[in-house]
Amino acid sequence: MSKAKLGTETQKATSEELVRSLVEGKSRFHQLPKWLTAEEAARVRRLALEELTRTKLQHLGNYTCNMEAASHQNCENIIGIAQIPMGIVGPLPILGDHVKEEVFVPLATTEGALIASTNRGCSALRHAGGARVWVEDVGMTRAPVFRTSSIHQTRDFLAWVSTHEDEIRQVGERGSRHLKLLDIKPFTFGTSVWLRFRFSSGDAMGMNMATIACDRIVREVIEPNTDVPCVALSGNYCVDKKPATVNWHEGRGKRLHAEVVLPGELLRDVLKTTARDLAEVQYRKNLLGSVAAGSLGFNAHFANVLAALFIATGQDVAQVVEGSLGITCIEPEGREDLRVSVFLPDAPLAAVGGGTGLDTQSEALSMMGVQLDPQKPGRAVMRLAEIVAATVLAGEVSLLASMASSDLAKAHERLGRAPRTRGSNGTAPF
Ligand code: ADP
Repeated sequence: MSKAKLGTETQKATSEELVRSLVEGKSRFHQLPKWLTAEEAARVRRLALEELTRTKLQHLGNYTCNMEAASHQNCENIIGIAQIPMGIVGPLPILGDHVKEEVFVPLATTEGALIASTNRGCSALRHAGGARVWVEDVGMTRAPVFRTSSIHQTRDFLAWVSTHEDEIRQVGERGSRHLKLLDIKPFTFGTSVWLRFRFSSGDAMGMNMATIACDRIVREVIEPNTDVPCVALSGNYCVDKKPATVNWHEGRGKRLHAEVVLPGELLRDVLKTTARDLAEVQYRKNLLGSVAAGSLGFNAHFANVLAALFIATGQDVAQVVEGSLGITCIEPEGREDLRVSVFLPDAPLAAVGGGTGLDTQSEALSMMGVQLDPQKPGRAVMRLAEIVAATVLAGEVSLLASMASSDLAKAHERLGRAPRTRGSNGTAPF
């Protein structure tokens, strides 16, 4: 069958012919005719794949999601929907600027025990009066890399950029009323120059908007006026989807803070541990262990809670890589209590765009009251960010406590057999 026939309105091929064409390699998955609906195209691809891979695909095609929207905005060559179990944790009381109540948080995961553990963390935070949160809207960054002919041209280039920020801003912001250029941070060595553009992007995560704006800035303003060529629109100093020190220091997306004071009785009765044991796990694991490993994540498992929240709410899941940067701090408060806080400098988040509009993802956001308000752009994503910060804190508290208590249990077991010659309080020194 010719490609011409597959693509014409007048001579529509049957599904069977389209499947055969795919199976015989006469056409490719992306070459199905435009007149097919997204659902029909997905079905044709599945039928071909069943033959090509000798796999029965009975679940991929079971969905209620709007395929037309998904195939246009989220996924090419669409063949169906991957199903990931979603659970709920909470209620989680949050004391923030945008959330001042208890919320239920949906988490999509295939990692058994993650939800039970985070839910236990929520319970601890409830008993402790809630999670205090603070979110800084750092902004989305994109850093094109330029090639100069000498360090003197670099010097002149940077001087030109700094004296033409208004012009650059005008061109960059032209495409969207939600995008605002906040600043440009240059970095250079040799004949390479990176310009790290930082934008605020309303309720959107902003990566597409920032990239489109940078492209316009480079093509319309910088290159024609400086004769310095841009080698790549993303010069890896942005830094998107890679763990990086510049994001640690400068932040990216939203910078999250959350804290709670855990009273001694709560540590004992709910978390089955003590301030001393929890602090020791924090010190030797999150701090010393991370230093020993050269890690950029001085935390127990930010990535676990982030990934589950990202999948549930349609965030860009690959950004969990950068979201996992950050530190958990634990310090004594009085004699028996502990102040626990989490700091995530690099959490790119969205309440609009990306996968947030997909059906289950949008339901998950609604459950948490994350809804766009056209009168107050940027508020919805700040609400989401506060919830993310508090949930990550719940996850840290619970996992660290369970490590502290199981170490204790092991120590008690050892102590039951060995002579009591080690810890003055009856527990083994760790
Ligand atoms: P991103 O730029 O976050 O990668 P998209 O490419 O999906 O994601 O862009 C987000 C889109 O959402 C833009 O077209 C933007 O104009 C639109 N939009 C609608 N409402 C808002 C809002 N309140 N804040 C930011 N963007 C919004």
